[in-house]
Amino acid sequence: MTTTSFTKKTLGLETSEPAVTPPSAAHQTNFVKKPRLASPKSKKRDIPEGLWTKCPKCGTMVFDKELDENLKVCNHCQHHFPIGARERIHSMVETCTFEEMDASMTSVDVLCFTGAASYRSKLEKNQASTGLKDAVITGICKIGDYRVALGVMDFKFLGGSMGSVVGEKLTRLIEQATEKTLPLIIVSSSGGARMYEGMFSLMQMAKTCAALAYHARARLPYLSVLTDPTTAGVMASYASVGDLIIAEPGAMIGFAGPRVIKDTTSAELPPGFQTAEFLLEHGLIDAIVPRKEMKPRLISYLGYLNNGRK
Ligand SMILES: [Zn+2]
Repeated sequence: MTTTSFTKKTLGLETSEPAVTPPSAAHQTNFVKKPRLASPKSKKRDIPEGLWTKCPKCGTMVFDKELDENLKVCNHCQHHFPIGARERIHSMVETCTFEEMDASMTSVDVLCFTGAASYRSKLEKNQASTGLKDAVITGICKIGDYRVALGVMDFKFLGGSMGSVVGEKLTRLIEQATEKTLPLIIVSSSGGARMYEGMFSLMQMAKTCAALAYHARARLPYLSVLTDPTTAGVMASYASVGDLIIAEPGAMIGFAGPRVIKDTTSAELPPGFQTAEFLLEHGLIDAIVPRKEMKPRLISYLGYLNNGRK
């Protein structure tokens, strides 16, 4: 068997040892495999980590600082990257007006659930990595001239899943809104009910919707904002019962995933299935609003819906 070795250096790629061009697959041996790692490693060195993010839609490398200044929206193709709950609240409410509610409420591992890792350890890990206690932040704030009850979910915390804390915090928020005659805005971003809490997470669907029914009975407006992704138990409860349902561009919105539906129905799914744009066309949502226009648009909707109350 013959092996070939080269001492040629690739321009711009300074490696400690000479780069070796691997021979064709027919001539491959263990001996020539190792040096192949040299060139991708040195390429990576050119891009410092945490400074650039590749846009999944247009493939452009976007400068992180630029992305932050642009509310995590790609300047080239307007792709909406995920944004944290605190950042979103900061982008929507008037400065220093957000009074957080139930900030220290945390989940209890009622079922002592253990899968690949225990629920308790997953909670601790997510609390440490996100700085959040659970997947939603709630509070009373001002948006424009309007006092509003606002709940914002964070997908980074266990996929924005709805457990008993998300359900309870939102229910308390809705009840506060009813009591104080405030309009309500909930920004959803969720993979659905939290399986680690079993039935306790499923009953949050009924609980939040019951509180919303009282809010609606008081003739107070509820604006539901759907972001990428809003699915399953959350979409099947409070996210889909807004007086106005608004979505961010390109958001994936649905109940079961497209693959499950395709397998169950054995039918070809239409193009754009379960995107905000598809659902606007089919009447499930009322408007698609880019992130940067969200605040002025919410203020204008509140003007229509809030009977002149400020
Ligand atoms: Zn892009």
